[in-house]
Amino acid sequence: MSYKLFIPGPTAVSEKTLRTMVQPMIGHRSKDFIALYRSLQPGLQKIFGTKDHVYLSTSSSWGIMEGSLRNVVQKKVLCCMNGAFSDKWLDVANRCGLAASAIQTNWGQPIEPGALRSELATGVYDTVTIIHSETSCGCMSDLPALGIVLREFPDVVSIVDTVSSCSAMPIDKDANGIDILITGSQKAFALPPGMAMLSPSVKALDRAAKGNTRGYYFDLLEFQKNHEGGMTPSTPVITLIYALKSKLDDIQEEGLEARFARHARLNKAVRAWGESWGFSLFPRPGFGSVTLNCFANTRSADLVALNKLLKDNHGFVIDGGYGKLKGKTFRISNMGDETDETISDLLQALDTVLSKLGLGKP
Ligand SMILES: *Cc1c(COP(=O)(O)O)cnc(C)c1O
Repeated sequence: MSYKLFIPGPTAVSEKTLRTMVQPMIGHRSKDFIALYRSLQPGLQKIFGTKDHVYLSTSSSWGIMEGSLRNVVQKKVLCCMNGAFSDKWLDVANRCGLAASAIQTNWGQPIEPGALRSELATGVYDTVTIIHSETSCGCMSDLPALGIVLREFPDVVSIVDTVSSCSAMPIDKDANGIDILITGSQKAFALPPGMAMLSPSVKALDRAAKGNTRGYYFDLLEFQKNHEGGMTPSTPVITLIYALKSKLDDIQEEGLEARFARHARLNKAVRAWGESWGFSLFPRPGFGSVTLNCFANTRSADLVALNKLLKDNHGFVIDGGYGKLKGKTFRISNMGDETDETISDLLQALDTVLSKLGLGKP
């Protein structure tokens, strides 16, 4: 049975992308691979907004989220927490045996630049983790405002997760003082899961070189050494690299600015639809993610019944709330390859389903 995902990850993958993965294998130390790997750099650097190198990791995002900590935390890490993924990052730091504490705000509230500044000013931290777009509650922090603070603390290595925002809006890694930028294949890039991308600054690499807890698989120095030869440390997921190549071609064809504008426009359309039904946005106004809308279930809709009707009758799937927000919120993704038409089809189907469930527009 086939249906289309509008959940915030993994996102729907186009036929074109899927087809490009069905190519014969090439050796990962071959000239062909090196040419392929190198051809990806300009596009990735442009999307990341960086002059630093971009590495490809055969892992989901958590691999390099954990690995980055192991590479650079030598004193203590500050974890900025405002949702499920950022909360988890503190847990991961603890499980790695690292000294860690947190700025904790309620889910749906952005990370405040002032709170970040006063905590970093204590001088006890050498690393900070931030999630740009908290996918669990659809909340996006203000990256340029946080970047001003990050640049005030040149001894602190910043690790920023842009898993559900990178390529959908400007990230400007270098301008925003981001030392390690992390993203994954299966969200805003609309590729299948299984690959992550990361870009460390020279400062992050220098820090990594001073420590001895890097391990092997996610060792930034191994990535860098291999990157110089146009390769990855171990055998990468070559099928996904074919897919990334095709996606970067698509992005170039559409134009990055047009891609940003498309995400903003579709995001607004979904937001207006939800509000027209009396669902309020869950995150603080002005801080909703540009790639998804997380609505509070203010109409007390039966979300399980809603998703069943939506899937059975229309072939679409949305998300019924993450973790402790299950049933209390629902999330609709507009990231990746969505168009005015696909979003309009979804919203019409949702209109039908909500009416079937006995809800009327307020
Ligand atoms: C999905 C997601 C992750 C986790 O990614 P995996 O690829 O499942 O490891 C991390 N951070 C954010 C913001 C996410 O949306």
